[in-house]
Amino acid sequence: MSMVINADSDCLFCNIIEGKIPSTKVYEDDYCYAFRDIAPQAPTHILVIPKEHIPSADALDSGNSSVAARCLEAIPKIAKGEGLENGYRIISNVGPDAGQSVQHLHFHLLGGKRMPDQMI
Ligand code: 5GP
Ligand code: ZN
Repeated sequence: MSMVINADSDCLFCNIIEGKIPSTKVYEDDYCYAFRDIAPQAPTHILVIPKEHIPSADALDSGNSSVAARCLEAIPKIAKGEGLENGYRIISNVGPDAGQSVQHLHFHLLGGKRMPDQMI
């Protein structure tokens, strides 16, 4: 069971980090938690989240960006563990126009197939 900084008891991902809602953990360190997405869009679809309740990338500032950096640093390790030698995609949706549905910063890590759509 992990502590979340600035935890929001109504936040799904805070509750997942705290073990109140089950998840399939892939990686954990002092700053980050990673688990499999419940509705995978690729053979590997992992959510990498900070152990601090930050609503989205739009709430990043000099006081909390280091935990986001820790999550980014975890991604190569997770990708290696998943065998994603051929590449992967990292996505972080922010707000309604991007379709963000959970208001706790998360990085989607997608891989294991050639991605079908190439917006950018
Ligand atoms: P967003 O739409 O905010 O960018 O991404 C939220 C992601 O959380 C979605 O891909 C969705 O499938 C995933 N998700 C929603 N609820 C749960 C849950 O209870 N467990 C897990 N593992 N993933 C979830
Ligand atoms: Zn949260």
